[in-house]
Amino acid sequence: MYKWAIQPSLMDYPPPLAAAAACLNPSPFHDHSSHSRFGLSGLLILTMDAGRRSSRAKYECLLFDLDDTLYPMSSGLNLACRNNIEEFMLQQLYIEENEVSRMCLELYREYGTTMAGLKAVGYEFDDDEFHAVAHGKLPYAEALKPDPLLRNLLLSMPQRKLIFTNSNREHAAEVVKRLGLEDCFEGVICFETLNPLPPPPPASAAAAADDDDIDRQVVVAGSSSSSSSTTSPILCKPSLQAMQAAIHIANIDPSKTLFLDDSARNIASAKAAGLHTVIVGRSTVVEGADHALSSIHNIKEALPEIWQAEEEEEEATVAATPGDQVIIQSNAAAAAAAVQATVFA
Ligand SMILES: [Mg+2]
Repeated sequence: MYKWAIQPSLMDYPPPLAAAAACLNPSPFHDHSSHSRFGLSGLLILTMDAGRRSSRAKYECLLFDLDDTLYPMSSGLNLACRNNIEEFMLQQLYIEENEVSRMCLELYREYGTTMAGLKAVGYEFDDDEFHAVAHGKLPYAEALKPDPLLRNLLLSMPQRKLIFTNSNREHAAEVVKRLGLEDCFEGVICFETLNPLPPPPPASAAAAADDDDIDRQVVVAGSSSSSSSTTSPILCKPSLQAMQAAIHIANIDPSKTLFLDDSARNIASAKAAGLHTVIVGRSTVVEGADHALSSIHNIKEALPEIWQAEEEEEEATVAATPGDQVIIQSNAAAAAAAVQATVFA
């Protein structure tokens, strides 16, 4: 059972995160033109059968990376994406051809993503144009097929489930759609969530800006600035600040949340933020990882505790007297109300 709810207020977020929270769109997998159904400014939260969650559960939330976690690296998307980014660096930023590969890798290692690194060292470009090249040309149809096994696993998990990716919203929506997982997640924390565009200037300031637009054009390393370009640092994994922002925006208790990612450095950062961690795509743990999964498909065998609390609760319900059942059902209703209160706080 699914239910849409609208968060009426973002007052509990500190100012920088309030903007990010307002950008959190847990419905990237739906037509954005349908916003009016739920209210344009409201934060949409999909609560998934909250009554099934147990306060006794070890985990209340599962936070999944997207790329190379929900599908294997062998899909080829990772390599295709890197090639696209190198093409952007060459064609749009005019970086020397013999420098592109080395720079792409070094910036990725140093700043979390190559895009973040390019911005940090002074290149200015439109975020959307970058994403259009990096992700817009990916061979989704050949690389990704529906994954009913993973879908069934996800739908059987009683916890809240969210995606936390450095990728942009469109890419996340496309991947989730191709995998057939549109109805499996409450929402996605993506590039736009952590890096919202600044609010538009007041009308008077905008009019004044029109007069000196040419003066304000900044050209760095052969690339002109644009309306959505920014010189501020990009917030992304593996920075601890990004982890903490995601925890805050999703309103989760890190000590009750399982974080799954294929990147060792993201795992280390998640552990520093207090999350339980699973490295995906490896058979042995890395530093900061509590568990290792060679494939996301092995999750039930490796982490039966995800399902355990619910199964124990169901057994308790079956074994109880009719009077006890009322109490148990009341507790479930109270737990659901508490979840709603948390979501709406
Ligand atoms: Mg990944």
